[in-house]
Order: sequence, then structure tokens, then C-alpha cells
Amino acid sequence: MQIERCTKVTKCDFIGCNNLADYSFSTKGLIKRELAFCEDCLKGMYQEIAKLQVPKGTNSHFKLRPKIKKETK
Ligand SMILES: [Zn+2]
Repeated sequence: MQIERCTKVTKCDFIGCNNLADYSFSTKGLIKRELAFCEDCLKGMYQEIAKLQVPKGTNSHFKLRPKIKKETK
């Protein structure tokens, strides 16, 4: 799977979006046809993916506990 610069002039596949596609998502036959989408929709998708793929460790309880102890002293 890879995301490529869209070479053909196609409309963005996202419903309600009237932009021309900037990128295409190539799956080499894994989905029926390549998904074409514009820059805005790419950003939208990225934000949704980022919600699912939150890097672990930033909100670690192990890191927070010593701080809380110091503040309560
Ligand atoms: Zn779009």
C-alpha cells in the first residue's frame, strides 16, 4: 500500500468534497479501485488516524506520580 501523487485529473472521492484529487491511495488490487483524495481530506484522515494511534508514554502514570508527591509536600 502506498500513497502517491495523483497524476490523473480526478475529483476527490470524499462525499461532499468538490476539490480535485492531489493524492491517490494505491493498494495494488486490495480494494476495488484506487482511492483519490485532496490535500484537505488527507489532513482530515491523518487527524482521525492520529486519534487512534496516540503515542504511548506521554500520559504515563509512572511519570506523573513522582511529580504529584513533590507538589503535596
Ligand atoms: Zn477532498
